[in-house]
Amino acid sequence: MHTEIYMDANATTAVLAQAAHQAQHTMRALFGNPSSAHCSGLQARRLLDQARARAARLLGTGAGRLMFVSGATEGIQTAVLSGLCAARERRDSGHTGADLLLYGATEHKAVPESLAHWNQVLGLRLQLRAIPVDRRGLHDLQALRAMAPQAAMVCTMAANNETGVVSDLAGIEAALQHSTACWLVDCVQALGKLRLNLSATRIDYAAFSGHKLYAPKGTGLLYVRDGAPFTPLLAGGGQEQGNRSGTENMAGIAALASVLEALEDGYSFRQPAALAAFRDRLADSLRAAFPGLVFNTPFGHALPTTLNFSVPGFSSKEMLDLFDAAGVRVSAGSACSAARAQPSYVLEAMGLPAWQTESAVRMSFGPAADETFIDAACQRIANCGGALRSSGLLPPGAAIAPADGVFQLHCGDACSWLIADAASRCCIVIDPLADLLDRLVATIEGHDYQVLAVLGTRAGLAPVRAALALRLGARLQTSDPSCDGAGWPNAAAADAALADGTRVATLRLGPRWIARLPHAAANVYLLGVCVGDAVDTSAVQFAFTGHEAGTLPVDPTLAHRLAPVLQPRTLLCPALDPQGMIAASLDAAQPGDAEAHAMELAPNEIDGFLLAHPGTLLVDVREDFEFLASPPRSWEGPQSVNVPMGRLADQIARWRLAEPGALVFVCRSGNRSERAAACLRRLGHAQAWHMGGGLAMAG
Ligand code: PLP
Repeated sequence: MHTEIYMDANATTAVLAQAAHQAQHTMRALFGNPSSAHCSGLQARRLLDQARARAARLLGTGAGRLMFVSGATEGIQTAVLSGLCAARERRDSGHTGADLLLYGATEHKAVPESLAHWNQVLGLRLQLRAIPVDRRGLHDLQALRAMAPQAAMVCTMAANNETGVVSDLAGIEAALQHSTACWLVDCVQALGKLRLNLSATRIDYAAFSGHKLYAPKGTGLLYVRDGAPFTPLLAGGGQEQGNRSGTENMAGIAALASVLEALEDGYSFRQPAALAAFRDRLADSLRAAFPGLVFNTPFGHALPTTLNFSVPGFSSKEMLDLFDAAGVRVSAGSACSAARAQPSYVLEAMGLPAWQTESAVRMSFGPAADETFIDAACQRIANCGGALRSSGLLPPGAAIAPADGVFQLHCGDACSWLIADAASRCCIVIDPLADLLDRLVATIEGHDYQVLAVLGTRAGLAPVRAALALRLGARLQTSDPSCDGAGWPNAAAADAALADGTRVATLRLGPRWIARLPHAAANVYLLGVCVGDAVDTSAVQFAFTGHEAGTLPVDPTLAHRLAPVLQPRTLLCPALDPQGMIAASLDAAQPGDAEAHAMELAPNEIDGFLLAHPGTLLVDVREDFEFLASPPRSWEGPQSVNVPMGRLADQIARWRLAEPGALVFVCRSGNRSERAAACLRRLGHAQAWHMGGGLAMAG
């Protein structure tokens, strides 16, 4: 069985077995309300008091308040409200000058967003300002010292959730020596990993979340220094000594107490040295699996449980897909932003280059990890590297079977195309994009292709074409002097007639022909297959027109020019594809058509569908490397094939010749498969479906 290797502990953790047991026991047997005067209430009260005493001991809260809250976001909220109410009081009593709200530039969004929220709600109009961090992610203490006298509140974190960087709290405290600002420390990632003795510090507020350390979600703690300003966020029945009203989450608190007990016993969790040894083993495996990998923070001042790295040439999303396929759960930056393909603002604040911020992967584990878990993780990491090598994307590449046909490479809203002939190991590149150069070169080298031409459908591509030519060296068979401005190699071209009689220049690529149709500042390219040895322009399979997907006809003159030479089913391959539409054709439905959307099958409907539609082809549209990294799946009955999204246009052209029956697309989450099925439906294939929720829901 392919077990999950959960390496995203900084996002959340599974609940410790004894903590889950304690929660259940509390719900069933100790369910009393701690505010009740009867015996059931007294039992609950005792549990609550013991839990608080244990937490106070562990965190060294001294005479400070310690309250149970729903998590760090609530704790942060309460601290910010308290700090800002105090700032308002000071202002109302005539003290001016402290008008800055300072927060670390790499803080979790809960902090600056809470500052902005309460600043606005309370009508304070204080100025939010980020404390810069250096290349290592450490706060610029000089900048902090300079701003501190004007600060009403200062918010920093004990350890960063994306990088594991451990803040210099003593240095921050020294920088705040002459400041009257309230100081909040977000201790979420420190719990169980760093020793804390809060009352021995100047820290006014410290927030914790239980679910980052094996307690259930919805549990947390807030420490408030003795004498620090305090305003309750929740008013009501006066629970938690009036600090936080609302009947206590006793099951959660019991579970959290159980985790704290494990932390206190000294043997349930690994000590820092053992965790650092685990981290070093993981780091060695990562370096061996992914040549060129860089770690985005030096290990010297980071939690031993967090590794943040980037692999040149691979986006965070691609790496996440690869690891996920191998059953290794990692994250791209923080969990809150993982769904969005954005560079990490934490790494940006550290001044790391764009490629590192866009490729960052976070691998994190908890202090309950053991040798067996780390062994399994190292093995899976090696498998992931092997999958990339086997798909030709990492050196030294295995002998890759040459792929044939049309490849679409996507980057942001734009795409490049590559047309390859397996037999002669030759290819042509259309519209290379700067951000795809690494990937194009890796694909070309991995498959050992010679490049006949690098073509553009638009003006302005010359610098990228030149950069690619430089990288390709002798693999590029045409030299610029013989080419037109769009890269068309005049010397190699032969003359042929299109369907409307227009004479055009054509190139041969094995059994395929490609024709240039000069248009505006660049060219349109038409692609078809020869009949025998002759160029047969009566069937144009693909047209690369430089248009944006879904907007045809872009240009009436171009549409007019193309109408007599294209067939209704010629696949129109875009240069811009912001919606991921892949390809269109002149006879395709419009993107908004209802027909294109009624196509989702729930995972539990698949078996019934396959029974009702024998001969269904199940199409896995994940990348080759994801497919290679996955355990084999035993789909019953139907044929199944792997057609990565980048090969879908090519496959559609083949399907258009063979007219397949029902197609059911699958991928990891259901996003790519939905786009694939929608594309097929728009192109007139009514029997296209996809598995909603993806393989993640299929178990
Ligand atoms: N602060 C840090 C550093 C975090 O990592 C998180 C969670 O990701 C939070 C605050 C917010 O915690 P919660 O969502 O549990 O309230």
